[in-house]
Amino acid sequence: MRTFTFERAESLPHAVRLGERTGQGQVNAAAQFLAGGTTLIDLMKLDVLTPTRVIDLDRLRAGNDSIEVAAAGLRLGAFATMSSAAVHRGVLEAYPVIAQSLQLAASAQLRNMATLGGNVLQKTRCTYYRDASWGACNKRTPGSGCAALQGVNRNHAILGVDDTCISQYPGDFAVALVALDAQVELSGPEGPRRIPFVSLHTPLNRQPHIETTLRPGEIITAFSVPPGAWTRRSLYLKVRDRASYEFALSSAAVALDLDGGRVRNVRIGLGGMAYRPWRAAEAEQALTGQPLTERHAEAAAAAALESAKTHGYNDYKPELARRTLVRALLQAKSITFSGENA
Ligand code: SF4
Repeated sequence: MRTFTFERAESLPHAVRLGERTGQGQVNAAAQFLAGGTTLIDLMKLDVLTPTRVIDLDRLRAGNDSIEVAAAGLRLGAFATMSSAAVHRGVLEAYPVIAQSLQLAASAQLRNMATLGGNVLQKTRCTYYRDASWGACNKRTPGSGCAALQGVNRNHAILGVDDTCISQYPGDFAVALVALDAQVELSGPEGPRRIPFVSLHTPLNRQPHIETTLRPGEIITAFSVPPGAWTRRSLYLKVRDRASYEFALSSAAVALDLDGGRVRNVRIGLGGMAYRPWRAAEAEQALTGQPLTERHAEAAAAAALESAKTHGYNDYKPELARRTLVRALLQAKSITFSGENA
């Protein structure tokens, strides 16, 4: 690990000032915010991120870690830990897809440490990105190429990719947020602002080194999820190589509002498949107004994967994604409002 300066922010305005002054958030920034540390410290040890200044946000936890479930929706403080949101009774009952996406992520130790804000900003698990001895990685070194295109790309993305990068967004919680039309609350040098969660992560646009729309010095302070008739009948289905402590090969966040057996409203996010948290709008359109049968679920899943682009080792992914989504939809259909399958 390289030498760096450690600064402790005493308050939110102080953190924003420190971040703005040091250029935190700019591409290849020499300054990085530290919250739970479960991504940043790993990548510093691997020499992938090499900040000269680390700004500790730990003192911002108090006042920014509350979890509220109300008629106006769900509000999650960005400094709440993954574990606290995963076991929150109101979240479990009214937004099960959120709780499940957190329960199925990482390990118990990591969930106790990692914040929700840090979780959505986690970096790709692409091995070529995380091993600095590989020269070709456009995300780590813009213009250097992409080793994964011809390499071992079994875990890489098939949606939202181009020939500059095929890395997969690794998170689970973000997939649930994007499905539920969440908003992100931010605090920065120009004051607070709120943006749709779907616009937090940038599309690839041949610029893999630019990952978010956060401005220098900006800090995520909360997530809000609007209420809806679909949030209670929701689930997160995750398929992975082993049953615990593993990233998704494929996942689906599904929230359903049914009128009898017919789909009145549906929200679908896909994980393990895409460059960024992925909303499956084509699948939602295909299902809306239709009876939720296996045949209609399969048609919706096919629509969701129509634009998939594979690169050899990940040729299995479109079929896995289709099966994951069909299973998630049919399981969601059978959920009772007590949270148990009928
Ligand atoms: Fe780098 Fe993206 Fe290629 Fe991985 S897939 S080597 S992160 S450019």
